[in-house]
Amino acid sequence: MSQQSNHYDIVIAGAGFAGALTALCLNECGFKICLIEKGKHPRFAIGESSTPIADMILRSLSSKYNLPWLYDFSRYGSWQKKHPEIVCGIKRGFSYYKHYPGKSFSTNDNHINELLVAASVSDEMSDTNWLRSDVDAFLVTKVKEAGIDYFDETEITSGLRENKKWKLNVVHNNNTSIIHASFFIDASGGEMLADKLFSVKSLSENFLTNSFAVFSHFDNLPRWTDILCQKNIATGDYPYDADNSALHHVLDEGWIWQLRFNNNRTSFGFSLNGNRISLQKMPAIEVWNSMCAKYPDINYILKDAKLSIQPGSIIRSGRLQRKLETCFGDGWVAMPHTVGFVDALFSTGIAYSLAGIERIVEILSGNRNFQQPLYEQLKEYENIVFEELKLIDMLVAGCYKTMQYFPLFNAWSMLYFTFTIMYEQKRLKNLPVKYFLEANDSEVQRIAHTTYKEILALTAQQTLSQKNIDVFTNAVRERIKPYNIAGLLEPSSKNMYHHTIAEL
Ligand SMILES: Cc1cc2nc3c(=O)[nH]c(=O)nc-3n(C[C@H](O)[C@H](O)[C@H](O)COP(=O)(O)OP(=O)(O)OC[C@H]3O[C@@H](n4cnc5c(N)ncnc54)[C@H](O)[C@@H]3O)c2cc1C
Repeated sequence: MSQQSNHYDIVIAGAGFAGALTALCLNECGFKICLIEKGKHPRFAIGESSTPIADMILRSLSSKYNLPWLYDFSRYGSWQKKHPEIVCGIKRGFSYYKHYPGKSFSTNDNHINELLVAASVSDEMSDTNWLRSDVDAFLVTKVKEAGIDYFDETEITSGLRENKKWKLNVVHNNNTSIIHASFFIDASGGEMLADKLFSVKSLSENFLTNSFAVFSHFDNLPRWTDILCQKNIATGDYPYDADNSALHHVLDEGWIWQLRFNNNRTSFGFSLNGNRISLQKMPAIEVWNSMCAKYPDINYILKDAKLSIQPGSIIRSGRLQRKLETCFGDGWVAMPHTVGFVDALFSTGIAYSLAGIERIVEILSGNRNFQQPLYEQLKEYENIVFEELKLIDMLVAGCYKTMQYFPLFNAWSMLYFTFTIMYEQKRLKNLPVKYFLEANDSEVQRIAHTTYKEILALTAQQTLSQKNIDVFTNAVRERIKPYNIAGLLEPSSKNMYHHTIAEL
């Protein structure tokens, strides 16, 4: 790094897709950008399933910031046409299967233990499961092509803010150098860089959800629909092939994601209730084995599982919930996934991160001298991100409360789909959107809080009657009625939602 070249408008730490895309958009706005990555691409990353909202934002960023190639990644069809070498999978929607301890999966003609919600009308138009190592590495090649300074295997060890400029100490190959910047963006994810640089703590208190994950990537896992076929479980009225979706297995202790990629690789992981004492201190492999021992079909799926080269081991996280005390400060801001995280249920992560890119790029491009009203707008950004995290937390917590009672889980999870519809419809009509999932909307708040209270009361009961379940389901159906353009909870749909949620 020469003395002349190490002065930037903005330094971004973390070259995940959020850091790299932010760098590309801000570069198009005319800022001089430096992107710093601690690791080296291609590297393993978890968090792979996109949603229609994520795809809408990708298209919007593509046109607004002159990144035409980005558009191709917003649908499976165009992705395959333009970049078949970048591995992804088809994601037609969200699929859920309830498993009971000690029992093989079973269901009936009314699909009592299944829930399939289509998000797109065809494979061509569908969302995708991103093999993040490929996608993130590709984005970094675009960063370099755009002439943005990119330093990998480089770590920021400390930072000093003087006269409205950052002086950042960075270490590469044991050599220390100094980078100067007017502004700093923390896109380092859950790595707590904000604590090191700004003494801003990340806390897990005040979340309703308490979960941890145990996960990896595997090669050649059997297809779930083949297993259903072996069991003579009919899939004729499914809206799509369930293996081409974000496939979830719902357990009593938590849930499993099973996300398939085109190269026969599958992201498979458990997200489990951290309040369960028996699981709290168990090492990854013991958690894995105990779940396989308890759920026969999960054991069947995993019995010959071969770990993929990356990451090559089973990983156990700590508690997933975390939130920074503040999202910004003098001369810096953190991207949403760096600010906080709840749980991977409903795959909010990619869309939530992209919504943050939209906001931060807009705020910074409107405040090129990094003076007021920048900080007022960053304060508003903080309010928005915290409010969104609160709503996501409640939606996820309600799911953990109801995982033992699938009909309740099914009815409760319709709140997520309803709020998604509300947000998508606004974007489709080009109406202004501020809060992801309309998190600040008074009706969204009312519906979520009222229904969550009912969930708490119901799940505190010793036993649940069919009447309890029917009353709850009817109440949810009534509450979501004004926004429910997808026929959610219509008895005639039998838990199979063929209608696309978003007309894209
Ligand atoms: C178990 C789990 C499952 C998930 N599943 C889904 C899902 O299905 N769908 C979904 O939408 N989201 C999911 N998510 C969320 C998803 O992972 C995040 O939304 C996504 O990773 C955010 O991307 P990012 O670029 O902000 O951060 P990251 O992908 O975390 O990237 C951060 C980058 O910063 C680098 N870095 C770290 N520290 C430093 C430093 N000091 N200096 C420089 N660089 C640094 C890291 O090496 C990394 O490359 C999941 C998350 C978890 C934990």
